[in-house]
Amino acid sequence: MTAPDLTLLLDALPAGMVVTDPDILGAYRYDRANDPDAGTPLALIRPLTTEHVQVAVRWSARAGIPVVTRGAGTSLSGGSTAVDGALMISTERMRQLTVDVATRTAVSQPGMLNAEVKQAAADRGLWYPPDPSSFEICSIGGNVATNAGGLCCVKYGVTADYVLGMQVVLADGRAVRLGGRQLKDSAGLALTKLFVGSEGVLGIVTEVTLRLLPAQTPPCTVVGSFPSVRAAGEAVLAVTAQIRPAMLEFMDSVAINAVEDMLSMDLDRDAGALLVAQSDAPGPAGVAETALIEEAFTACGATEVFATSDPQESEGFTAARRAAIPAVERLGALLLEDVGVPLPALPDLIDGVAAIAADNRVTISVIAHAGDGNTHPLIVHDPADPDETARAGRAFGQIMDLAISLDGTITGEHGVGRLKKGWLRDQIGDDAMDLMGTVKSALDPTGLLNPGVMF
Ligand SMILES: Cc1cc2nc3c(=O)[nH]c(=O)nc-3n(C[C@H](O)[C@H](O)[C@H](O)COP(=O)(O)OP(=O)(O)OC[C@H]3O[C@@H](n4cnc5c(N)ncnc54)[C@H](O)[C@@H]3O)c2cc1C
Repeated sequence: MTAPDLTLLLDALPAGMVVTDPDILGAYRYDRANDPDAGTPLALIRPLTTEHVQVAVRWSARAGIPVVTRGAGTSLSGGSTAVDGALMISTERMRQLTVDVATRTAVSQPGMLNAEVKQAAADRGLWYPPDPSSFEICSIGGNVATNAGGLCCVKYGVTADYVLGMQVVLADGRAVRLGGRQLKDSAGLALTKLFVGSEGVLGIVTEVTLRLLPAQTPPCTVVGSFPSVRAAGEAVLAVTAQIRPAMLEFMDSVAINAVEDMLSMDLDRDAGALLVAQSDAPGPAGVAETALIEEAFTACGATEVFATSDPQESEGFTAARRAAIPAVERLGALLLEDVGVPLPALPDLIDGVAAIAADNRVTISVIAHAGDGNTHPLIVHDPADPDETARAGRAFGQIMDLAISLDGTITGEHGVGRLKKGWLRDQIGDDAMDLMGTVKSALDPTGLLNPGVMF
């Protein structure tokens, strides 16, 4: 192992691609988890091509410099937080995208935003479904690396369901092509899927081939106000027992009021919880599904039920739900949870979170992709108050313990990152943890890629 000689990297890449200016590096230290332990990177590169990434990884491997891959830095689990002395590889300038209507696929470099991929597909009459609430600010590479979910996943699945192929740069600098535009592929081990959700610890995705669907039928939206979170939880079970809605989202009263403070949308401030559901079934089937959702909401005690097929009104309610995290963030710093449970356990999870909030004397707002059983308890705290911060940290762990005890997961879509790795073994067990370690060692024997994430 030789001492890092940055001039070798500077010489090997186009002028200006390697950045060492501390002011610029400062902007790449944190992601949206705002981990106070974020490190200071040695340098940053903003490549344009797979070859540039290969040069950087080979240089890092030779110099023994860790690599942290960064998409748009919206990670909520600390996955793209900088490490001291690391080379940050930002994909933000890798922005080539083509859409092929004949195969209904898109081939995208990782730096395109999710919203841009969606728009390019829509321009050709097609649809890229995965829709994290952050879709306007997160990259498609980050989505693949975290197996991002979102609002329509309850019916249409997560990012993994749309990744047909990719090019990935391995820790030794080789660039490998996996999968392709074919819809079915049983050739060997499913390596494409292995890299989806691998959070930058197995390789750097430099191109991705995505499956597209025909454009979505304009949805009908049903909004229900409930007196309690338990009533709303029961409504979720009543709906999902009968149909697969195109969206089924949950906000508790803290989130409702925070969104109302921010957006003034006439949401019911007195409600204990709000559900936003959608049906995109075409014609009479959509009418029947919408009626079924309204009936289920009413039967479970909704105090107000409102249905609309107006696209602007529908988008307004969806936007309100998407705005929940930034809105609650205005109440204080957030520790963001992402726990999920099998659907019947959802009411118990939400009740359990309320008990944890009371025990630890902290505010925890719960929003959820409820139809998936995937909740986001948002733990509000003041970082200037060490006692409250400690109580928030305790609640963070207790919520993951609760999800595990309910046969659930510590993360439904944000990934393990740096913040949740202490609970991964508790969820998956020693054997699965060892298996993951074996895969990591086989692909990245020196632990070059994203150290501190997942392992
Ligand atoms: C307000 C808000 C709402 C959100 N809502 C949702 C939601 O509904 N659903 C959801 O799933 N997430 C949500 N997120 C979390 C976040 O947006 C997603 O995790 C997203 O997929 C991260 O994309 P990014 O480009 O910002 O990735 P980054 O934060 O830059 O990176 C995330 C992880 O992926 C790795 N990575 C990034 N690019 C690559 C690559 N090309 N190759 C290999 N590894 C790579 C990084 O090393 C890191 O581990 C939300 C975030 C915010 C701030």
